[in-house]
Amino acid sequence: MNEKEIMDLESFYLANVFSKKPLVFTRGKGALLWDINGKEYIDCASSYGVAALGHCHPNIVAAIKAQAEQLITLHSCYYNDKRAEFVQKLVNITPKGLDKAFLSNSGAESVECALKLARKATGKTEIISIMGAYHGKTMGALSLTWDKKYREPFMPLIPDVKHVMPDNSDKIREAITDKTAAVIMEPIRGEGGIRVPSDNYLQQVREICTEKGVLLILDEVQTSFGRTGKLFCCQNWNVTPDIMCLAKPFAGGLPIGITVAQKDLMSTFKVGEHSTTFSGSPIVCAAGCAAIDTLIAEDLSGKAAVDGKYFKSQLEKVASRHKIVKEVRGLGLMLGMELRYDVYGVIMKTLNKGALVIDAGRTVVRILPPLVINKEQIDKVIKILDEALGEEENERSSSSTVSN
Ligand code: PMP
Repeated sequence: MNEKEIMDLESFYLANVFSKKPLVFTRGKGALLWDINGKEYIDCASSYGVAALGHCHPNIVAAIKAQAEQLITLHSCYYNDKRAEFVQKLVNITPKGLDKAFLSNSGAESVECALKLARKATGKTEIISIMGAYHGKTMGALSLTWDKKYREPFMPLIPDVKHVMPDNSDKIREAITDKTAAVIMEPIRGEGGIRVPSDNYLQQVREICTEKGVLLILDEVQTSFGRTGKLFCCQNWNVTPDIMCLAKPFAGGLPIGITVAQKDLMSTFKVGEHSTTFSGSPIVCAAGCAAIDTLIAEDLSGKAAVDGKYFKSQLEKVASRHKIVKEVRGLGLMLGMELRYDVYGVIMKTLNKGALVIDAGRTVVRILPPLVINKEQIDKVIKILDEALGEEENERSSSSTVSN
């Protein structure tokens, strides 16, 4: 099939729910992707954070190959060696106290589990979420997500969800009632524009939740796995939630969702109250073991801290040359560049020049490279962004001259 045939087939048979870019990728290695015509791109999107280990990391490839010959699928009503190994490795790296896991297949599912667990454990129904939050698009997770363009077509969603102003712990305190089961938030809002909270915020929220007897759920679907310079983003502020939601990169690119909680909390689920057919498939868990081993062996969180600082400082230099850029922000290799306008033009120009970046809302260019990206690749992306921003500015100034 050629490029056009592939795009036509997908468009014809798949639900039209993704905002597609006209590119067909067929191969990847590390931080690089190649399109069907052999053109090379530097991936600074990692499939929305999934490919944190880069594409086709040899450890992941080897683990999947070996497990594919052994056993691919096995329902969790039986035991499996790779599943046992994976949950042990996982709990060995999660913040102390988060020692029981439920395995699912996506970020939204990890949030669904957290929601049900919070209701079950507290016997309460109310959940406090944050304006600007993104927690996924299944009905429960969608109820917590903020953007009304995602929510309104599907109303009514689950009741008793309140959204409060971000980065203001007083608003959390005011919103809590005797019906509140949990507060849920992303430590750094990803889809909401790479918003890093002020330094004391998360600690204050933790204290309020503890004082009021309300569970704190941290959605680390995008922020974990070393991306922000720590294995889990909450560790940047020494905060441990009661429940943590994980997903994206934890199985080296295979679908996974994970909800971790303290033992007694997770034990409030009785047999049958929560499950999913694919929970902890051996092949996913084998890839997950290799992913965690690689994360630790290559010290990717340490690398993300160092490379993220460098990437951010270079982005700041670029920003200083372009009036169109309002702000650069982020932590580790979770970076955002807010523009004064819609980012579509800059994203497309960057793509055409050989680097993938994504949006985070209408005006923020989001940069989520594989953690294995090297300095030379970062420098290339910086050059491409510099050029793309320059061209966008020129276009905007010439079109405003014309319209004047
Ligand atoms: N929570 C957060 C913080 C996310 O960033 C995402 C996905 N971008 C989700 C939940 C939903 O994950 P999924 O798309 O795998 O359902």
